[in-house]
This record gives sequence, C-alpha cells and structure tokens, in this order.
Amino acid sequence: MCPSTPAANATVFLGMITPAGRVAYVTPALPAEVALATAGTDAPVESRYRLAGPCVTTTCGFWTGDHCGLGERVVASYRETAGPAETDLPHCAIRRTCRWYAEQGRAACTACSHVVTDAR
Ligand code: SF4
Repeated sequence: MCPSTPAANATVFLGMITPAGRVAYVTPALPAEVALATAGTDAPVESRYRLAGPCVTTTCGFWTGDHCGLGERVVASYRETAGPAETDLPHCAIRRTCRWYAEQGRAACTACSHVVTDAR
C-alpha cells in the first residue's frame, strides 16, 4: 500500500492532519469513502486527510525502478531535521502492507506522521 496517495487512488482513510501538522491515524481501518464524504470543497482533501491506496509502481513519479523514492526521501529528510526514529510507533491500520514501512522500517513511521500529501 502507498501511505500517501491522491484521493483518486485511495481505498483506505489513513488519518487526519491535526492543527499542529501531525497525522492522527485512524484505526481500525476505514474505507477512503468515509473521508471523502466529509471532505467538503474548501481545500484539497489531501491537505486535510491522509489516504492510502494500492502502490502503482511504474505509473508513479516517485517510483525509482525498485522502490519508493518518496518514502526514502521522507525518511532522509526527517533524519536530517529531527534525528532518530521514535521507539513507539503510531497505531496505523496498514502497517502489514505499507510500502514505506516494508522498505524503510520503523524510521518510516516516525517520519510518516509529519507528512501532508498536499501541503500547498
Ligand atoms: S509509514 Fe508506518 S505509520 Fe506510515 S502508513 Fe506506513 S506503516 Fe503506517
């Protein structure tokens, strides 16, 4: 699963962006339609919610050929600014199938909670 996907590809409502810019993860998993139905139209849904969906590999601009370049970049950026991964991982509904976690490990989850898919 891609943990930061556009609404058009979303199947899971992963979390909400708090006023502090952190992700409040939704568990257990809810379908993306729950978020999309309450999203309104005043701002892009991806700026207020985190949505997950199937990783589309070669049709995504972040795909490097063998892994997700966005997950790699998110982890590297967080390490530079904030340091090592936290010991307590967030309660997340997609960890078993998350591509960022599979490729980057626990550090992905620490960085993930700071990601806003559409941060315009
Ligand atoms: S990186 Fe971690 S917290 Fe984020 S969606 Fe994947 S498993 Fe969940």
